[in-house]
Amino acid sequence: MTRTHSRRPIVAANWKMHTGPADGAELARAVAAQGLPLDAVDVVVLPPALGLSAVAEALRGTRLAVGAQHVHWESHGAFTGEISAAMLVGLAAYALTGHSERRRLFGETDRDVRRKARAIHDAGLTPIIAVGESLDERDGGQTEQVVRAQVEHALADLTPALTAASVLAYEPVWAIGTGRTATPEQAEEAIGWIRAAVGALHGAAAAGQVRIQYGGSVTPANARALLGREGVDGALVGGASLDAASFAAIVQAAA
Ligand code: PEP
Repeated sequence: MTRTHSRRPIVAANWKMHTGPADGAELARAVAAQGLPLDAVDVVVLPPALGLSAVAEALRGTRLAVGAQHVHWESHGAFTGEISAAMLVGLAAYALTGHSERRRLFGETDRDVRRKARAIHDAGLTPIIAVGESLDERDGGQTEQVVRAQVEHALADLTPALTAASVLAYEPVWAIGTGRTATPEQAEEAIGWIRAAVGALHGAAAAGQVRIQYGGSVTPANARALLGREGVDGALVGGASLDAASFAAIVQAAA
């Protein structure tokens, strides 16, 4: 694949609420044993919080990174059940925020995403910030304005440099876990809108450097077409990431 920019692809495995410490470590070892093209692609696994330590231990000495699926925006305090980005230092290098399951099922707001993105950076981790439209919004022709607004909120507390060091993920809600993937053209178009929104907010340099993944029913069968599109800098993978060989095939497609 010929690239017209220097952004390094990044592929992340969102294991969602699957795997505990033992089977998570086993899956991590299976992923690491796949002979991934790690000279060309950054690879991150996002296990449930309970398995973070075991997965980090299993991946020690490899070039695979570990990330959290969810953090609170405060560093500590009376927030029962939560973990903070600050607590992940030394354990994880990334943390996801803005995932549509968190927004839809757990009430995560644009304001929360903004605060979490900042907190993740403040802890020295890299946020993976997910944005995307619902099916009604797409059918109503609102995709551009929806993703622009989400980007503007999410990046409002970041500097251009922190924005450039972030990862964004375009995840159309209607494509997540549904088996219905955005077409490569739709992914490229929406990612173009997201990059333009970053540019309007934080300048052309940040827009040129920030990595933007596509997520939503990515499989080995569709990964090459999606990841080959201009501006698509990798993938955020849910279901297909629970099988080491399938995930590895997607990473190969990004290389
Ligand atoms: C996700 O969880 O971010 C995701 C894209 O899931 P899936 O690949 O299963 O659609």
